[in-house]
Amino acid sequence: MFLVIRKRTAGMIFAGICFFGLSIGAYNFALHPNMHNWEKQKLLIRQVKTDQKAVALTFDDGPDPVNTPALLEVLGKNKAKATFFVLGSRAEKQPDLIKKMAEAGHELGNHSYSHADFNGKSDEFILEEIKKTSDILCQLAGQTPAFFRPPGGYLSYAMVDLTNQEGLTIGYWTWQQDSKDWRDGTTAAQIADHIKKNIAPGQIIVLHDGASNGAQTVKAMDILIPELNKQGYHFVTMSELLELENKE
Ligand SMILES: [Zn+2]
Repeated sequence: MFLVIRKRTAGMIFAGICFFGLSIGAYNFALHPNMHNWEKQKLLIRQVKTDQKAVALTFDDGPDPVNTPALLEVLGKNKAKATFFVLGSRAEKQPDLIKKMAEAGHELGNHSYSHADFNGKSDEFILEEIKKTSDILCQLAGQTPAFFRPPGGYLSYAMVDLTNQEGLTIGYWTWQQDSKDWRDGTTAAQIADHIKKNIAPGQIIVLHDGASNGAQTVKAMDILIPELNKQGYHFVTMSELLELENKE
């Protein structure tokens, strides 16, 4: 009798742990119920299956007049390539920075014009935000963005359709590689440690040069890149990462 109860209790604890694990898994893996289908259809990417030790560093919300030039210097010094998901409204104020990014071999991604919350916005509004930004980047740098990263990671069926019509892929990120670097008070060491601890080939790492904590993000790259280089990792743009995908 005693044993039976203990078994049952153990079973319940085990079931509880499984449920807890599943809930966390569900939260992390399915920000939108159709995410996996979009990934299968190649309308959205979060990670690339590759045997090569390559990852994509991506920087959002810039360009920032102070942190972005400092970041470009760190990347240049370490011969690392990155993808910048810039805002159209900030890009048009800093055309020289956009040109510098392109000339240094970095990729420009579209992160909307104004970083508005797309939830509840009309198709026309969303389309205008995407088109305007792609036009600005094309004019300034001669690069038509291949990827769109929605502000705040917002996803909807309509938005993915519109993005696809515009010839853009949703450039999401690998969920383990969100260090929340944008939060004020997060230190460079914390950001670098988070990324190092979770690193694996083919990941897309989300970071923010355009947030108020951007100076720490830049400092984190100065720590992180040489350390990961020692482990054999190299840093490529998102388009380059896709080229490294294992052929089935
Ligand atoms: Zn953003």
